Amino acid sequence: MFKDLKKAASEVVGRREVNDFIEVGSVAAALLTADGNIYTGISIDSACSLGFCAEHGAVAEMLKAGENKIVACVAIDGTGTPVPPCGRCRELLTQCDSSNKDAQMEVAEGKCVTLRDLLPEDWKTGQDRNY
Ligand SMILES: [Zn+2]
Repeated sequence: MFKDLKKAASEVVGRREVNDFIEVGSVAAALLTADGNIYTGISIDSACSLGFCAEHGAVAEMLKAGENKIVACVAIDGTGTPVPPCGRCRELLTQCDSSNKDAQMEVAEGKCVTLRDLLPEDWKTGQDRNY
């Protein structure tokens, strides 16, 4: 599973300087949905913190396709090494669907944990919400 995800991410990773203010692709992410589809995204690093993470881009692609449940996700840097998601992306992934907390995340080469492990004491748990 992660072999396919890392292959998909490797096809879009690659730092590219757009201009003096923005560079893209230093990190790429790929996620596998419950429906069996893979979506990818790349990081956008820009002046004034206007960019976003590769996972964020992959989530946007997934949501655009009408899906929101993931079973696995990985982000890689330019060397193909897995990098763990930042706190904002952990939150974004769990907000897409509560079942995403059981998604497998490769956070280092060969080291997989659940999103639940990465986001303990979830503020959304126990609330009277549709979650
Ligand atoms: Zn992030």
